[in-house]
Amino acid sequence: MVKTSLCGLTSDEILDLIIPLGYTRAHAISISNSIYKKSVCDISHIAKIPLRLKAELRNIALSGIYFPLASEVSVDKSIKYLFRTDTGKEIETVYIPDNKRNTVCVSTQSGCRMGCSFCVTARHGFRGNLTAGEIVNQIIALPQAAKVTHVVFMGMGEPMDNLENVLKACSIITAEWGLAISSRNITVSTVGIASGVEQFLLRSECNLTLSLFSPFGEERIKIIPAESQYPVQKTIDIMKKFPLRKKRRLSLAYVMIKDLNDTDLHLEGLKAILRGSSIRVNLLSYHHVSNDQNCSSSAERMQFFKHNLIVSGISASIRKSRGTDISAACGLLAIR
Ligand code: SF4
Repeated sequence: MVKTSLCGLTSDEILDLIIPLGYTRAHAISISNSIYKKSVCDISHIAKIPLRLKAELRNIALSGIYFPLASEVSVDKSIKYLFRTDTGKEIETVYIPDNKRNTVCVSTQSGCRMGCSFCVTARHGFRGNLTAGEIVNQIIALPQAAKVTHVVFMGMGEPMDNLENVLKACSIITAEWGLAISSRNITVSTVGIASGVEQFLLRSECNLTLSLFSPFGEERIKIIPAESQYPVQKTIDIMKKFPLRKKRRLSLAYVMIKDLNDTDLHLEGLKAILRGSSIRVNLLSYHHVSNDQNCSSSAERMQFFKHNLIVSGISASIRKSRGTDISAACGLLAIR
């Protein structure tokens, strides 16, 4: 008999599992609290449930928690972890400590099928979607699980290409019976699959960031092939029109490459597409990948962009890179 993995179930789904055994919602909440808040791997150690329920649960379920196979520590103390799911998919996860803010960057797919030219993940093909449990496990199975304050969906894969699992993972991460991390501290990144973005905005309260690269479609398509099917302007229009609840953040990630997308023309294009919206811009430096002549814009050029956007009424910031020495930065994740 195939046993059910508890990690990845909502409290309602756990309740459905134990109701036929004669147990209640309070027991379901105890189980979900043990799995998601305490990372309890052995069902015998689940707190606040009767011994008989533990015995019955062991017959039909597993915790579903499994630990990383390897890790690599950066000079800046970021740690990259390698996981292998029970179906053999390999994925990478990055833990990024920063004073009181401890962020986990999770993968949503093993590999990716979007084919962005600057991304190392894309070069290794697509090996499959992750389940909600496999996404959540990347947080609760870390040695630092209890310290995690923020989660970003910016690892391997395009979240909108695995939307249902991403939405379910977000609900487990934010729920009181789950990891109880505020939706304000969760950010999902996308290259802009418009239908997915629309659904995500409607069905989740988490933040969204759109990877732009260029404000010009004919230029963007060369770097982000998804542009041909999902023109970024349509996604930006959806983001602009969406009524924002207080403290929910919509942003654009703009990776800056010298002479390629950091000209004055690009700056004007960026201002034009964002005019009249509350979408923020995060400027990121480019991480050089092998066989590629590009290099990042200078710090001065990035400051120039930031300043100009701000004086035009657009919120902008420069994001620092973490974990570049262990290939754990944006666009560098790939199983080695
Ligand atoms: S940048 Fe993101 S969406 Fe593009 S190929 Fe890499 S992982 Fe996929």
